[in-house]
Amino acid sequence: MFAYSINRGRTKSYKTLYNEPCECLYCQNFRTAYPKLCPHGNALLERFGLSVDSALEVAEDGSENSEDVNYTAYFCVAGTLTADGYNVVVRDTSDIRLFKPSTREAVYNNTDIEEPYYILRLEVNLPWVLESRPEPINQ
Ligand SMILES: [Zn+2]
Repeated sequence: MFAYSINRGRTKSYKTLYNEPCECLYCQNFRTAYPKLCPHGNALLERFGLSVDSALEVAEDGSENSEDVNYTAYFCVAGTLTADGYNVVVRDTSDIRLFKPSTREAVYNNTDIEEPYYILRLEVNLPWVLESRPEPINQ
């Protein structure tokens, strides 16, 4: 069954044109921890023409009872997708799903890329691996 195609060249040139990696500590932690701890998911990103540096948006959510951070990262892939919400099999703890630009799912979709394209959503729980830590937020 055909589910998606990848135009790696166009995905990579899009990344060069539009993506500036965020420099906050949470995003730095994501970029450092993910390739180390989820090598299979990281290899999958590379197969799409992506890397941890090329996320459109990275959202983080610390859980109260652990040191881990829940990350949701959105990427943009040039290519066609026939199955909205397609779940790409990853042999580690990452969850990777593909969404059409027209999806009803609340995905980050602010791109300037030309069609056809789709959104890759990566969800993963990662420990803190950097030496510096963000200031605690007082509530
Ligand atoms: Zn950031």
